[in-house]
Amino acid sequence: MNSLRFTAISNFTQREAETEIENTGAITTYFGENVFTLDTARQFLSDEAYKSLVASTKSGNKIDRNMGNQIANGLRAWAQSKNVTHFTHWFQPLTGASAEKHDSFFTIKSDGTPIEEFDGGALIQQEPDASSFPSGGLRATFEARGYTAWDPSSPAFIMEIGNGKTLCIPTIFVSYTGESLDAKTPLLKALVAIEKAAVDVCQYFDKNVTRVTPTLGWEQEYFLVDAGLANARPDLLMTGRTVFGHAPAKGQQLEDHYFGAIPERFYAFMCDFEKESYKLGIPLRTRHNEVAPGQFECAPIYEETNLAVDHNTLLMDIMNRVAKRHNLKVLLHEKPFAGINGSGKHNNWSLATDTGVNLLAPGKTPKTNLMFLTFFINIIKAVHDYAELLRASIASAGNDHRLGANEAPPAIISIFIGKYLTDVLKEVEIRVGSNFDETDEALLKLDIHKSIPELMLDNTDRNRTSPFAFTGNKFEFRAVGSSANCALAMTVLNTIMADTLKSFKKEVDELIEQGEKKEVAIMHVLQKYIVASKKVLFEGDGYSEEWEKEAQKRGLANVKNTPLALDAYAADKAKALFENNHIFSHAELEARHEIMLEEYIKKIQIEARVMGDLATTFVLPSAIKYQNILVQNIKGLKEAGLKPHAYANQVQVLEKISHHTSIMSDSVEKMIEARKKANKISNTRKKAIAYCDDIKGKYFDVIRYHVDKLELLVDDTYWTLPKYREILFLR
Ligand code: ADP
Ligand code: MG
Repeated sequence: MNSLRFTAISNFTQREAETEIENTGAITTYFGENVFTLDTARQFLSDEAYKSLVASTKSGNKIDRNMGNQIANGLRAWAQSKNVTHFTHWFQPLTGASAEKHDSFFTIKSDGTPIEEFDGGALIQQEPDASSFPSGGLRATFEARGYTAWDPSSPAFIMEIGNGKTLCIPTIFVSYTGESLDAKTPLLKALVAIEKAAVDVCQYFDKNVTRVTPTLGWEQEYFLVDAGLANARPDLLMTGRTVFGHAPAKGQQLEDHYFGAIPERFYAFMCDFEKESYKLGIPLRTRHNEVAPGQFECAPIYEETNLAVDHNTLLMDIMNRVAKRHNLKVLLHEKPFAGINGSGKHNNWSLATDTGVNLLAPGKTPKTNLMFLTFFINIIKAVHDYAELLRASIASAGNDHRLGANEAPPAIISIFIGKYLTDVLKEVEIRVGSNFDETDEALLKLDIHKSIPELMLDNTDRNRTSPFAFTGNKFEFRAVGSSANCALAMTVLNTIMADTLKSFKKEVDELIEQGEKKEVAIMHVLQKYIVASKKVLFEGDGYSEEWEKEAQKRGLANVKNTPLALDAYAADKAKALFENNHIFSHAELEARHEIMLEEYIKKIQIEARVMGDLATTFVLPSAIKYQNILVQNIKGLKEAGLKPHAYANQVQVLEKISHHTSIMSDSVEKMIEARKKANKISNTRKKAIAYCDDIKGKYFDVIRYHVDKLELLVDDTYWTLPKYREILFLR
């Protein structure tokens, strides 16, 4: 037997011995050594250049050419002190994790002298050959190419790949006329919007607050599998998930993997990628096994959102690269294996002031309590009002396997806040009537702070089913997919919060103008917001069927697939929201909608092709070979004069195989026809819906069902695709 499957299995046993765990010593000795931190900048820059860099890091202000030259020189000096030869503008296009185009410092002067050079121009702006990045028609519309522009708010870093080292300049990617073509540009704009809106509201409570920064702590889930076995699965290579594969006899029902010991080989990989991450300043904190076999999670200490987003994008890249060294493959797909838990990326989110206050941490005094309640209730209102946009922000072909499936946060956006805060909101709702005045301050003496332990106790399995949960001092947006760029969800979340805070301030100011005292005005608007948005609050089991029914009664949306979820981006409500907060113009929003639909179509198209290929060139031949053996056997037994009952079993298996192969092959043919039909549709949205309903919906499950049945019938030695039990349990 000479299939990739068996070669991979036999190589696997030899590989185990190569595992080596490097002892890297104290993390503090190398943390951030590959980052151009402000401390490093001070060493390599003139006073003037340093000050200008610090100022633009904080304000996002542009740096002029002259200063750009000075900073570029300092950056090059630092990079060359670390043997770096090339630089690149590093950016995050809308599809794929990150992109880069390397240039060397080396150049030849007009007089022929070879020199190393890196000037302000090359630092500040570049024009990558961007024609192949998705633009949703924007570049065509504006007849302009895209360019990358330095984002000084995220520090430059050195990426080490083998012995090669590259200086990476974080950039945004925009069209010549300024339309955003990446994940970061709108995020940066959303951060500006929320900062302004939140500072304005903070002023009611504390005049010293001058900055508010959204914080993000992501929890990255992923699977690790042997690279040899993964390489023998074309579906994993092409789509990041297995399109076929029967559930193994043992899945995750024993729950023996969760918090179990990490297998040594995987542990070596983790130590290695963590070290690379630390060098790049990614503050990783935890690692542990997840529920499914071969599934793990890592999480950092939270950071400012902008940096946290860059760090997560970098981390995914580092994981992929480092895995190769260990003959492993990292699967970041939301659902690599059917019947086994999928992967998500919880986005823990809060707002921090420059006075050191976490705005979502309940306070100790009535005044700080009111500030907490203000931000707490505003985010509930924001999520309620823009639930469909939040849903759109996490929509992808991969995440469709989780949302709405019976294991992940459902596609219904609801909020869990725990029993104590539910009671607090009820109290506010009932007691703050029209004659509420300052003497009712008792209401604000809520002992929220002391009740936090109780709140955490409430943090049981049930709230784990909530897509958006309050966890004591932050909200956890759990529906984000494991392969997603957090920027998409963070852009929407921070924008809807900014918009809600703006309206809130307007309403409060109006009441104050009418003569209400500040605190009373705030309470009145909060009470109104609770009434208006309480239907989005849900404390029960989010995975239950009752919740689906209940949510429908409440009028909450439950959009189960990406093409329809993305409609939210095209709605007038979204256009107004994003335009009013200076995040997207209408054209940008339409382009984004188009890009995401196209990405969806391509993903499903590739999956469909891979399914067809595997069914025809892997599964069918294996089935036929085994059928021939059975036929030979039956013939032989017949010739030897045995009665039919002696070979009845073989006949039965033969019939079953014929049954499954015929439906499988027939469905593959029909699916090809359906694809041809869908490809003729010119409207992108309609085409995406056709791919969703007429191709994925009609054929994927059918084909898979019959292939998986065949896997259980065909002689194991003829089966050429590595099986789930091997991919998941060989380690
Ligand atoms: P758990 O593991 O129970 O979900 P943790 O407190 O360990 O909770 O936090 C999980 C993630 O939330 C970590 O990445 C952590 O850094 C992040 N986190 C904690 N506090 C905040 C905050 N104020 N803002 C954003 N993220 C936070
Ligand atoms: Mg968590």
